[in-house]
Amino acid sequence: MAESTTSAPAAGSSGTQVTSVVVLQAPLSGQLVPIEHVPDPVFAEKMVGEGLSIDPLSDRLLAPCDGEVVQVHAAGHAVTMKTVEGLEVLLHIGLDTVGLKGEGFDPKVSVGEQVTAGTELITFDLDHVATHAKSVLTQMVITNPERLASFTPRSGLVTAGEDAVAELELVADDGRDDADAAAGRQVTSEAVIVANPVGLHARPAAVLVNLAKRFEGRVYLQRGDTRVNAKSVVAIMGLEVGPGEKVHLIAQGPEAAEAVETLSAAVAEGLGEAGAAPVAAPASSTVRAEPAPEPSVQSDDPDLLLGVAASPGLGVGTVLQIRHEDISVEEEATDRHHERRRLDDAIDKAQVQLEALEARLLREADPSKAAIFAAHQELLDDPDLLDLAGSAIDKGKSAAFAWRSAYRTHAERLAGLQSEVLAGRANDVRDVGQRVLEVLTGVRQERPEFPAGTILIAEDLTPSDTATLDRDRIEGFCTTSGGASSHVAILARSLDIPAVAGIDPQALEVAEGERVILDGAKGTLRLNASEAEVDRIRRRKERIAKRRAVELEHALEPAITTDGHRTEVVANIAAVEDAREAKSAGAEGVGLLRTEFAFMGRTSAPSEDEQVEIYRGIAEAMPEGQPLVIRTLDVGGDKPLSYLPIAREDNPFLGERGIRVGLDRPEILRTQARAILRAADAGARMHVMFPMIATMQDWRSAKEVFEEERLRLGADRIPVGIMVEVPSVAVIAERFAAEVDFFSVGSNDLTQYVLAMDRGHPKLAPQVDGLHPACLRLIGQSVKAAHEHGRWLGVCGSIAGDPQAVPLLLGLGVDELSVSIPAIPSVKAQIRRLSLEECRDLAAQALEQESAASVRALVPQDEDERGLEDEA
Ligand code: PEP
Ligand code: MG
Repeated sequence: MAESTTSAPAAGSSGTQVTSVVVLQAPLSGQLVPIEHVPDPVFAEKMVGEGLSIDPLSDRLLAPCDGEVVQVHAAGHAVTMKTVEGLEVLLHIGLDTVGLKGEGFDPKVSVGEQVTAGTELITFDLDHVATHAKSVLTQMVITNPERLASFTPRSGLVTAGEDAVAELELVADDGRDDADAAAGRQVTSEAVIVANPVGLHARPAAVLVNLAKRFEGRVYLQRGDTRVNAKSVVAIMGLEVGPGEKVHLIAQGPEAAEAVETLSAAVAEGLGEAGAAPVAAPASSTVRAEPAPEPSVQSDDPDLLLGVAASPGLGVGTVLQIRHEDISVEEEATDRHHERRRLDDAIDKAQVQLEALEARLLREADPSKAAIFAAHQELLDDPDLLDLAGSAIDKGKSAAFAWRSAYRTHAERLAGLQSEVLAGRANDVRDVGQRVLEVLTGVRQERPEFPAGTILIAEDLTPSDTATLDRDRIEGFCTTSGGASSHVAILARSLDIPAVAGIDPQALEVAEGERVILDGAKGTLRLNASEAEVDRIRRRKERIAKRRAVELEHALEPAITTDGHRTEVVANIAAVEDAREAKSAGAEGVGLLRTEFAFMGRTSAPSEDEQVEIYRGIAEAMPEGQPLVIRTLDVGGDKPLSYLPIAREDNPFLGERGIRVGLDRPEILRTQARAILRAADAGARMHVMFPMIATMQDWRSAKEVFEEERLRLGADRIPVGIMVEVPSVAVIAERFAAEVDFFSVGSNDLTQYVLAMDRGHPKLAPQVDGLHPACLRLIGQSVKAAHEHGRWLGVCGSIAGDPQAVPLLLGLGVDELSVSIPAIPSVKAQIRRLSLEECRDLAAQALEQESAASVRALVPQDEDERGLEDEA
């Protein structure tokens, strides 16, 4: 039988007028457990609300009071009820039971049903839950604790449906939500599709919070039935909104309409994130987020430790182990006001440090790095985090102790999320947490002065550690935690420091001073490297650096083979800055302008005039008379646009993509056609090219739209070509060649469609090799068809810049190679060393091979490049 225990006034509600008293009955038979003892900080720290827990002896969850069922969780393990007084009661069976995906649970009620105390809500298999979940402890939580004046739980053994388990005093609903809603001051947005490639993770969440805070009143973000505070970064991240998912913005108060309008537009636009994509993308041939390769666990070679490739490049040097020391703090404090002030001051100081760091990175024109520290500032402002720390201070804890438990709880909560990306953000919370703790305690975790040639090894490095690494001294680093998508990996790539994440923990045992070789492209750390090995690699690195400098000196010269054949080497670009850079790198034109970047990071498509300005700007930045191939909008598949929603598709790469979008929404194609034609007199030799052409009908329809607009404008003809990236085009290339002005092979897509392997698939990607003889045959046959009709053919997919592919493409008769800007000088230099005659022989042999590997085995590789990668 339950006994009454202490009466616990609900936080912050003392002194308010009690309007009614509610007694909750036992939903299960069993032992009552204080909520603070539940081994899950989400419940124990009352993040969900005030409540209690039961260690169950029965397997029928009963309603603790009368009310309406307002939510039945899809996994069947939880139910929320609402009483007539407006009290919301969540009943949650077990811990981490959502992972059981409904197994063992049988909900007996549905949403909207009125139930009385004692009604059966869920029956469940107690044994199954006990053996498959973290715990069977079942929580009963008031999720709107602002309605509580007091909450008095009982203790002891209780019998379901018979014993009272808690007495609650309620205060009147301030009616703000309802009044706002009734007065039309609650506004809900239309569904907004989240455009961010990995959903609402820390940075976009921080941007949203920042915007939401500008509006008075409450603002919520809702996904499905779950609604969270849109002014809390952690709450938004916890919602785990994935890419392409629908959310609603809900605001209350006098500025509700404006808030919803601003915030939903910002979410649709990608919260500033999509706009950052062009900065990172042009160097690579694909715009997808880099997938995290599967880490290998152990190698057979005891001197080779395996991890995940986080930032490419080779580092050779001596090991320095970095260990984070725990800062010791006093637990108790006497003056909570003083402790509050100390915490506020420390947070303010940390904010100032972060602002300075962000400003420095912006000055260094590194917006993606700056954004990481802008997100850290938002984390410091997170109301949930501050509440958690504040309530611990109220309970007599010191500011340092309260802050440390608060940020650790948050970090653990993130680390436990399913999404790898969100879990990776736990490190950001620890980073800002540590920053404040250092200010509070005055203990600085000083980093030693790193000697030149250092390879750092650590369990984890924080973004702050990484951003301040000295590239001249640090050869590379590896961490036992983290992945390729962590902020630390992003920073390492932008600093051009080789890095390996998720390395075998044995790395932590490696003696300081030991010579090692770190390969950031392969994700390995070689131990016990001899001095001779290290020296050899160092010398080769130096030779490569020198050679690259020489190549750059000759970059402006043409690429002519030893037997006098010239191949044009042009650039793949995305924006006007790239056009300028391409010019100094020796580009002889632009073989691919990916116009989609002009359409990203916005709430609507750029107008015709805006596009004219962009295309003109690019043409004017190029040397007079060079070719400029503008590809029409290539979105869909891996490149979503929020204002051009494409219905969710099971196979987006086989769905509405590329020209299919333009033909479905011809106004977009027409506007772009007019803009291209209006920029055609800006100096460059303008070409237009359609992406993802699969059928003659696609080509003819697109060409017709373009011609109609040309005639309407009375503009001169310009060459009109197509991408060869769908195998059907290569197979009947002679039919297309009779009508198009030129071809450009998109080998990235061509390869994925020929081999039926997703080009970004984490496991298959290594096999998606454009040197597969099936792809080479299709390219060869397209070249032949083009030349028979007097057309030219270029290659703009990533194989155009692959040193092993270059001789083969020349041998197949390709007229132009369009490559990323950094590759231009070396591709030109390589062509100057080749003989066309030999390339033709090599290509003929390649076409007879049976695999990409055997093709690669045929092609001599540059000695330095090969030696470097393989020896590491
Ligand atoms: C390609 O598919 O090879 C190509 C150049 O186009 P994108 O990478 O932009 O799809
Ligand atoms: Mg493509």
